[in-house]
Amino acid sequence: MSVIEKLRNARGPLFTFELLPPLKGHSIEKIYSTIDRLVEFQPAYINFTSHRNEITYKERPDGLLERKVTRLRPGTIALAAAVKYKYNLTVVPHILCGGFTKEETENVLIEMNFLNIDDVLALRGDPQRGSRVFIPEKDGHRYTHELVTQIANMNKGKYLEESLEETSPANFCIGVAGYPEKHSEAPNMQTDIENLKRKIDAGAHYIVTQMFFDNEKYFRFRDDCRKAGIEVPIIAGLKPISALNDIKMLPQTFHIDLPNDLVSEVRKCKTDQEAREAGIEWATMQSKELIKRGAPGLHYYTLGRSDNIARIVRASF
Ligand code: FAD
Repeated sequence: MSVIEKLRNARGPLFTFELLPPLKGHSIEKIYSTIDRLVEFQPAYINFTSHRNEITYKERPDGLLERKVTRLRPGTIALAAAVKYKYNLTVVPHILCGGFTKEETENVLIEMNFLNIDDVLALRGDPQRGSRVFIPEKDGHRYTHELVTQIANMNKGKYLEESLEETSPANFCIGVAGYPEKHSEAPNMQTDIENLKRKIDAGAHYIVTQMFFDNEKYFRFRDDCRKAGIEVPIIAGLKPISALNDIKMLPQTFHIDLPNDLVSEVRKCKTDQEAREAGIEWATMQSKELIKRGAPGLHYYTLGRSDNIARIVRASF
């Protein structure tokens, strides 16, 4: 069953979580052990992040810099397929505009289609490390609504090569990202929501939000989306604080705001373990309220951790 079918048929909010592919050279077993600890809570589906090529510079013995293009976390589609068939679970690989031409994207989607993976989260990707602006590939997409259009076209049997005849339509269910605190590059919230609507109008079926720590921001965002004519389900993204440094790192990395009460709770902590306890308490409080006030699904950003997610889900659902 696709994500949108699950959302439509659900009797209560869905529990979902997100995993990163292992760093190059590391095994898939760590992913399996994370899933093993969360599978008892019957996740509706699992997301798998995607990571574009990165440019690194290495100093050579002659003092010159050598430019190297490398992908640190390859294997999103293969990982999703391995998990789908090992656990019989719905999987949602992420597909990026950044770093891919339209042709490469089409080929990835064809592989997914052959593997019977019919769910996808369509994203732009961040600017290349060290760059402040997003630069698409020469024949790639600049914005996610263009990528959504490409996927929706495949659902109509329209491929890039227009002369293809009697093509099989795909059947992708498409999710996209939404930002309760605005995407960092958007000039204001209204413009960002108008741009979000372009993704829905292009054929996206549901939204997953960026992490937020103040539920009122989610509720306001949901109201604003409805006012703008966006009617699709909006799944709430949650990231439990799991280390002392998170109160610095998360706002810097994800352009989000942390409530004062949460920051002062974490500041009282002396160890990462204490910060994790504070994070579990906060995320449990958030989860319970979101469920009570009608969020259709809660999506946990695990960043490789599962014991805290297990405790939050056990206490909330
Ligand atoms: P878009 O929807 O294209 O929007 C990007 C910016 O462009 C916004 O400011 C928007 O307002 C603006 N915009 C959109 N359309 C137009 C237009 N026509 N004209 C002018 N402006 C426009 N990143 C990864 O690299 N890998 C992942 O696996 C990954 N997973 C994620 C999962 C979730 C749930 C979320 C919320 C984010 C994830 N990201 C991931 C991060 C994401 O790629 C970045 O936030 C990225 O900067 C924006 O992606 P987007 O799809 O929202 O972009």
